[in-house]
Amino acid sequence: NPHELENTLHRIDGKGYKAYKDIAGRHAFDRFTLSIDHVQADPFAAPSRARVVVPWAVAGLPEHATATPVRARAARDWLARNFRRAVRDERDLAIDAGAQTVLDRTACLFTEAGVELRFTVHLPAAGRKILGRQAATLLTEKLPERVATAVEPGQRDEAALRAHCDAVEDQVALRAALAERGLVAFVAEGAVLPRASGIDDRPLQGAIPFEPPESLAVTLAAPNAGPVRGLGIAKGITLLVGGGFHGKSTLLNALKVGVFDHRPGDGREQVVTNPDAACIRAEDGRAVTGVDLSPFIHDLPLDKPTEDFSTDLASGSTSQAAAVMEALEAGTSTLLVDEDTSATNFMIRDRRMQALVAPADEPITPFLDRIRELRDVHGVSTVLVMGGSGDYLDHADTVIQMQAYRPLDATARARQVTADHPAGERALPDRPLTRPTPRRIRADSLDPRERKGRVRIKVRDDDTLSVGEHTLDLSAVEPLADRAQLRAIGQVLARLGQQGGTLEAAPAAIAKWLEADWEAITERPDGDLARPRLQEVAAALSRLRGLAVVR
Ligand code: ADP
Ligand code: MG
Repeated sequence: NPHELENTLHRIDGKGYKAYKDIAGRHAFDRFTLSIDHVQADPFAAPSRARVVVPWAVAGLPEHATATPVRARAARDWLARNFRRAVRDERDLAIDAGAQTVLDRTACLFTEAGVELRFTVHLPAAGRKILGRQAATLLTEKLPERVATAVEPGQRDEAALRAHCDAVEDQVALRAALAERGLVAFVAEGAVLPRASGIDDRPLQGAIPFEPPESLAVTLAAPNAGPVRGLGIAKGITLLVGGGFHGKSTLLNALKVGVFDHRPGDGREQVVTNPDAACIRAEDGRAVTGVDLSPFIHDLPLDKPTEDFSTDLASGSTSQAAAVMEALEAGTSTLLVDEDTSATNFMIRDRRMQALVAPADEPITPFLDRIRELRDVHGVSTVLVMGGSGDYLDHADTVIQMQAYRPLDATARARQVTADHPAGERALPDRPLTRPTPRRIRADSLDPRERKGRVRIKVRDDDTLSVGEHTLDLSAVEPLADRAQLRAIGQVLARLGQQGGTLEAAPAAIAKWLEADWEAITERPDGDLARPRLQEVAAALSRLRGLAVVR
């Protein structure tokens, strides 16, 4: 109980830091249970990990907050944020409650016992000596106060909790409505798409709100907000065109993260995208293992076959071809592509270059020559930002022109342009693109080496993940909302590696961990994980060097 904890802390006051180990374990407080799961080894190590469980009767959450799994996820997210607010002036307490995105995080869980908050405590020291009295004040006085502020009724802002749950529930419903309306994405009227800066994901102040063109406007039903009007991006091929700096990439970036939910006030809380959408970009230098690139790259000089292609150092076009094939392997039905992050020779080859370099001497079949086949044969839609080349106009079902951050329907004008300036006949690829069969992977090639029974998973910066001996650069993997998702990717990769044997189909094996077995990952006391999508875990796995594909 708190008195015992207090006594222990007073007893070890002034001792060497190691004596903090004495407070590990469970402590029953009046209104919650505190578990100290991991005590840091020294004052400079990562902070200690702790949890409080507030019983349901004490938390007294409103019924709506647990009415559905979606609302419960939102309520958990809100409670974690509320705890973070409650401890914001406590330097030694922290919780990983996320930024603009509302994900399925382990910072706050609803368990049979109650509301569980997982946070970190930096146990105070002077040099290497324990400051026991200070720790006692922190854990037995301040902590209970802050937990009550964050969780207990009367102290909570019930309206804000409800608004948070409503907004998330609406996003899930809007996203679910896309397919039946024949859409791949939706951007509500009034949405604010640009961000404060490249390193600040909050909305840009003073931005021009989104206004859909009349001809492309649709109205979807949201359970809480009611009817929502906005731009509907239909299945098929959609081009985003327009002059530089007119807002094309900003729109596409909003669509990329539209697979996740956003907090109210984010500006993108009614921007939703087909949940299996994949971002396709060039990433020279990445590793590629056992991917059939032949639909895009074949007859390489020196007869290097591309049906089962591996490299430690992919070129821009090779990496982008691999990205498409891997996305198809993972089962995507929507590709999001931006000219800014594409390899030109992968995207286009104009008439003059076709005339100069004979098809037989050109190993690359550009995406241009596959985009219709993807739509017609495989049901895969593409949303493509292309301001620099008109070649795609022939293939587009819809052309949206961004003009001073306002979308215009340019489809009819584009038809006129293609009629007035015909692109001429193109030699079509002589072999079809087939959706790849999922790769079989030798689990031990994921190499999850353990230390003291724990796989070493470390997130070094926003996009570097190390799992065991591997270092993965995920800077080109999108969308990753935050480091908590990176850590969870590490967990999934490690567990796949420990499974042993052969992973019969990599995407299915990943999906199992993300769905049926997710609880096994959240059981660990870590409060700094957030559930990623299959697409990003598969993308991370595909980038592992030394991945062993079984034929
Ligand atoms: P493009 O891809 O067409 O070249 P970007 O999408 O990169 O253009 O946008 C250029 C700049 O305009 C960015 O700095 C972005 O933050 C800003 N911007 C985008 N949309 C808006 C908006 N709706 N209101 C104000 N500024 C915006
Ligand atoms: Mg751009």
